[in-house]
Amino acid sequence: MDLPLRPELRGLEPYGAPQLDVPVLLNVNENPYSPPSAVVDAIAAAVHKAAESLNRYPDRDAVGLRTDLANYLAHEARVDFLRYENIWAANGSNEVMLHLHQAFAGPGRIALSFDPTYSMYPEYSRDSATTYVTLPRRDDFAIDVDAAVAAIAEKAPTLVLLASPNNPTGTSLPLDDARAIIRAAAEVPGGCVVVIDEAYAEFRRRGVPSAITLLPEHPNLAVTRTMSKAFALAGGRLGYLAASPAIVDALRVVRLPYHLSSVTQAVARAALSHSRDLQAQVDEIRAERDETVRWLRGQGYTVADTDANFALFGPFGDRERVFEGLLERGVLIRVSGPEGWLRVSIGTPQEMARFRAALVEVTS
Ligand code: PMP
Repeated sequence: MDLPLRPELRGLEPYGAPQLDVPVLLNVNENPYSPPSAVVDAIAAAVHKAAESLNRYPDRDAVGLRTDLANYLAHEARVDFLRYENIWAANGSNEVMLHLHQAFAGPGRIALSFDPTYSMYPEYSRDSATTYVTLPRRDDFAIDVDAAVAAIAEKAPTLVLLASPNNPTGTSLPLDDARAIIRAAAEVPGGCVVVIDEAYAEFRRRGVPSAITLLPEHPNLAVTRTMSKAFALAGGRLGYLAASPAIVDALRVVRLPYHLSSVTQAVARAALSHSRDLQAQVDEIRAERDETVRWLRGQGYTVADTDANFALFGPFGDRERVFEGLLERGVLIRVSGPEGWLRVSIGTPQEMARFRAALVEVTS
């Protein structure tokens, strides 16, 4: 039987890293620590309370949650201008990104990004019938700002996607570069929204600023975040963004009604009320990340500077062989980035010790 599948979807497999039953999971940049028991208790109590009114639809505008997110971000990025009207939330930053495409991209429009970057970006474009265009990053994975500014003027995209820290490289975008790109976008006739995807922002090294600080100057900027990483809540599915109220209002138009369940809102608010407890885990992961980078460099590998909870390292003549060798030893990492590179998420000290031992075995 013929199905009227859109031609661009024919033969495609669903996106997703393998979900394998392996002792050491270092492949999807999860937080290796379970939520602390105080957070588990708070979540359980909040879900119990939410269950009492599950016969009712949730707060469609999630005002309580968006207020909590505004307060958290204000504290995290040390700013004082965020209100709930500046915040949008959805089921993972993946859904926030899709909303951005539904509102600001679409048929006949261009989304511009910079390779190598997060592999979902072309999928949001495909699913919203947007044309996805990329420019290459420089050898150190930084963005060539002059080339970016020229491409924005020439191609007139309606969306520019910049991950910072970038996945899979871990590199951050300097704020001056961000400013130049946002200004070029503001010159596009008809407008262009710049999205800075800060999924990994909480892991940035000291002194690296967040693009949140740029928001008051730039009404065409949206900064996305997620609770999947620093909040150890990948299973909870809560992503969000901060932007001008005009951008948020556009996203409210394209969302499905009641897209955030009462349970999701309750879980996220309970976790947010414990953001200080969760910060200790973030600090441990950052320390382990810096240690891992030091060790890899000591072994002679090139490692991209990373502000995230993962590291991209190489080069390997046969990266598939190294990946398979690690997997045979119970350590799952990711084949990602340009040919010859591998990406490892930062786990617990015990997990990273197993990673190091396995890598030495596989490569000796
Ligand atoms: N942005 C980047 C750069 C990511 O790496 C990820 C997840 N791996 C996401 C967004 C989406 O995360 P989530 O949907 O879990 O919020």
